[in-house]
Amino acid sequence: MRKKFICGNWKMYKNQNDAIKFIKKFKPLVKKARAEIVIAAPFTLLPVLEKQLIKSNIKLAAQNLFYEKEGAFTGEISARMIKDFADYVIVGHSERRKYFHEDNELINKKIKAALDEKLKVIFCLGESFDERNLAVTFDVVHKQLAEGLDGISSENLKNIIIAYEPVWAIGTGRNATPAQAEEVHFFLKQELKKIFGTDTRIIYGGSVTSENAASILKMPNVDGCLPGGSSLDTVKLAKIIKSF
Ligand code: PEP
Repeated sequence: MRKKFICGNWKMYKNQNDAIKFIKKFKPLVKKARAEIVIAAPFTLLPVLEKQLIKSNIKLAAQNLFYEKEGAFTGEISARMIKDFADYVIVGHSERRKYFHEDNELINKKIKAALDEKLKVIFCLGESFDERNLAVTFDVVHKQLAEGLDGISSENLKNIIIAYEPVWAIGTGRNATPAQAEEVHFFLKQELKKIFGTDTRIIYGGSVTSENAASILKMPNVDGCLPGGSSLDTVKLAKIIKSF
């Protein structure tokens, strides 16, 4: 069986000192872990973490990118710049959709730009609280999936990991139940097979903790998880990684 994929999303937390302290403590805790481990760190921490992680089993992700290759785009970071330090990039996180008004079309451009530079993509999607209550979850995630991956080849799909992150579960302490996560993951895999003739890994994010991780990760179509808050603490993140 393929290893589970666990990506901690540090969001806008930690400076250089915090990050170095974290990694020194964290590395020995997960040295023999059976999972693929990724830390999605702020851009400023990628160079320093890359040095700390030489020969380690922990990989790095950026949390965002801009889709242009280069140019007069003050404050933006391209895929090529990220590639110097990281193997992965998160695209389409709900916080970017909400606070930075990122839509499916923009997300699609970002995914293509990342893949062009051989970065692997962690593509986030998920329904809001209202959408779940209106019973349109499947319509919403279908649209996000189809539009976000428009024009991507089946060959490139293997370089994309999908993160199902129901917006109502992110940072709320209210995780999807294992059955709720499994149902959407199963649906997304069927949709991927219809569009691409194949599927890819789908991980779950939304209030994952060291207490609930095992029950979510044991579901057959849950290929890993994307903890945010819990990834800020070495012991909590290591427990999630060792929970299955
Ligand atoms: C996230 O950052 O994508 C996330 C799911 O956060 P949390 O685990 O804190 O809900």
